[in-house]
Amino acid sequence: MSDLRDLYQEVILDHNKKPRNFRKLESANHRAEGFNPLCGDRVTVYLVLEGGVVKDVAFEGSGCAISTASASLMTESLKGKTADEAVTLFEGFHALVTGGGSTDEETDRLGKLAAFAGVAAFPVRVKCATLAWHTLRAALDGKADPVSTE
Ligand code: ZN
Repeated sequence: MSDLRDLYQEVILDHNKKPRNFRKLESANHRAEGFNPLCGDRVTVYLVLEGGVVKDVAFEGSGCAISTASASLMTESLKGKTADEAVTLFEGFHALVTGGGSTDEETDRLGKLAAFAGVAAFPVRVKCATLAWHTLRAALDGKADPVSTE
């Protein structure tokens, strides 16, 4: 279990303790719910999308440190991005946490999200790390059904 210390890096611990943008967004015009039955993580993602640009984003939910920190860092990364850029960021993040191999350019673009690189060594944690992102994509697509990682 000592490797878990590397996984729970400082940035992840900080965002778990003080999640950013953790609130209900009353003005949201897109929202989706996600659930990871494997771990019990739940998240609701709220988006204000205007002209294809993420004007505001927030989340609510409860889950493990990885899922909470991932949702928090995701919301920080998304403001001002277009929907297409958000999907590109998700693809880079997904490659990172599944050990799919990301290029240096992709890692640069991920910024703080690169803290989740250690997740690749813990396949069971991948769903925790990607739950908020899957939920984001559902919100962007306007899907009404809750997302499950199973
Ligand atoms: Zn979890």
